[in-house]
Amino acid sequence: MNWSDPDFRRRSVSWFLLGALSVLCLALAVLEYSSLREVSDAESYRRREALEGSLRSVGNQFDAVVTRGVRAMVREASGLPQEEWETAYLRGYMRWRESGNYPGLFRRVYRVLPGEPSPGGTAPESPGIVHRLDPNGAFVAAEWPAEWSRIRDNLAGRIARGRLFGPIAERESAVFEIPRFAPRSQSGPPAAGRRREFADPVEWLLFELDLDYVRKEVIPQIVQTQLTDRGVREFELEIRSLADPAVEIFRSGAEIGDARGADARVRLFEIRFDDVINVRRPPGSPRNEGAASGGAFGNGAEPPPAGGAKRGGGPPRPEGGEGRGRWELLARHQSGSLEAAVRRAHLRNAALTGAIILLILGSALALMRFNRNAQRLAELQVEFISGISHELRTPLSVIASAAFNLKKGVVKDPAQMKKYGEMIHAESERLTAIVEQVLRFARTRSGSALAVREPMSAGSIVEEAIEASSRALNESACTLEKAIEPELPPVSGDAVALKQAVQNLIGNAAKYGWEGGWIGVSAIRAVDAKGREWVEIRVADRGPGIPAAEIDRIFTPFYRGKRAVDDQVHGTGLGLNLAKKIVEAHEGTITAMSEPGRQTEFTVRIPAIPVEQRDEFAHTAG
Ligand code: ADP
Repeated sequence: MNWSDPDFRRRSVSWFLLGALSVLCLALAVLEYSSLREVSDAESYRRREALEGSLRSVGNQFDAVVTRGVRAMVREASGLPQEEWETAYLRGYMRWRESGNYPGLFRRVYRVLPGEPSPGGTAPESPGIVHRLDPNGAFVAAEWPAEWSRIRDNLAGRIARGRLFGPIAERESAVFEIPRFAPRSQSGPPAAGRRREFADPVEWLLFELDLDYVRKEVIPQIVQTQLTDRGVREFELEIRSLADPAVEIFRSGAEIGDARGADARVRLFEIRFDDVINVRRPPGSPRNEGAASGGAFGNGAEPPPAGGAKRGGGPPRPEGGEGRGRWELLARHQSGSLEAAVRRAHLRNAALTGAIILLILGSALALMRFNRNAQRLAELQVEFISGISHELRTPLSVIASAAFNLKKGVVKDPAQMKKYGEMIHAESERLTAIVEQVLRFARTRSGSALAVREPMSAGSIVEEAIEASSRALNESACTLEKAIEPELPPVSGDAVALKQAVQNLIGNAAKYGWEGGWIGVSAIRAVDAKGREWVEIRVADRGPGIPAAEIDRIFTPFYRGKRAVDDQVHGTGLGLNLAKKIVEAHEGTITAMSEPGRQTEFTVRIPAIPVEQRDEFAHTAG
């Protein structure tokens, strides 16, 4: 093994490349794994941002739907004296209902006019007058609904304190208020101690959402357009009231429970005063950006200016769950959490990468093996060509010189002439055998090793093989020990091919084992663990044997042992390969066992024809 040996060089380079590839693949796997967490975190962050954006558009859309209904009424009354507001509200309301934009959105609409404080500054028994909007299109005098006692008390307190400004229904789940301010011409001087720009409302409109309608109609449609249609489908959604968490407005999928378990949350249901009165901004446009924002009523916003709104007064609507709004919209990934879903997807990718890396390494290894085998085969073929040329040349030159002598009349004595004839015959037989072997090898490469498949007697095949090997056996001068059981079961196959296989083994025993002076050929019936019958043929000799390093290679085509080459023993390196192919075509096995110096034995096992099929063959087998 040194660097000048091209084979060693080639093998070293291959192993080096494979090693480098393995190191690279390992580094890739480690990098991939370590970046998994970072990538997962970044991906979770990105998807959470996107989810929050989508949830915000659901919130904005919902608020826009509600705002549209309110604005229809308020805008109709804007600029008119308060006496004309009632008819204006009704006009706007009817027009909005006819427009078909979720007409069932409001369960009840009330108009509340604050009353005068009772003498002594105490809260009045009934704070103000309430008018209920009749669905038929009229405001009718009504009582305070019992469940609005909180709003009622709030208003009573304000009247008592003489300060009407501020939200009166901020802690309700489904009720919100719109304060109405006197038109500039009617607003009069400010109340004592108040700044001029903040006037008190002169009345309120109270709207109560129909939660059932919101749950079944409004939210599902908004979720469809803002999430589902945009590919956000794998989340469970929940909307609940912040004022009263027991009020569940909407839910798709399992209950989220703790808001911290949600992947994203935003607030919604924030009806903003400037949206209600601002006619220029299209409904549904984002309202939480910089100067475009305005105050929201009932949410602790800055008070609006007297007689209308001043744009840009309020803080921007904060994003996420910390925003403003009476409700909270929560979303959680179906698989438990966004992180889990992202991590699972990344683990899948990592597993795929791992599999690809293994595949690459496996392919490289297989390629190297194929390459080495192809290389070895090419070398063997070259050896075979030179070997066979040598094999052919010897008998040919013997035949040629014998024929020349006969032609020239050098040989005249009849006894000598007979000897010459026998020599030519023997050498031409050897030539035929070589050509036969090569042709058979070529045939087995292109198709089956068997020409026919018929029942036959294994005993007679072995006898015939011994007979055909008589010359080789005689030349070796070995004692032949033959043990063929008389009652061998029949086997099925090609008698000529099987005879050739056994003959190759006997020929080898004679060629390589002659020094031992003994050759044993036996054929017995054997039964395996499963009760299957076999015919077992053994060919043994006591020659120098096969070295352990060679025994695995002797069945390779063109392979010849070192000793065979060194001692210039005739051969093509095809005999054992052919025998193996023939035996395997008979569904049998061939094994070699050698204890150099003691005994070398080849065992061929051919399955016997099953008993139940033997009758059919009996007449053909004979
Ligand atoms: P060939 O005999 O033409 O070389 P084979 O395929 O028949 O080719 O045998 C392959 C090799 O196996 C031989 O070259 C020889 O080295 C070894 N071999 C086969 N049979 C024997 C045996 N009985 N004893 C020792 N070596 C053997």
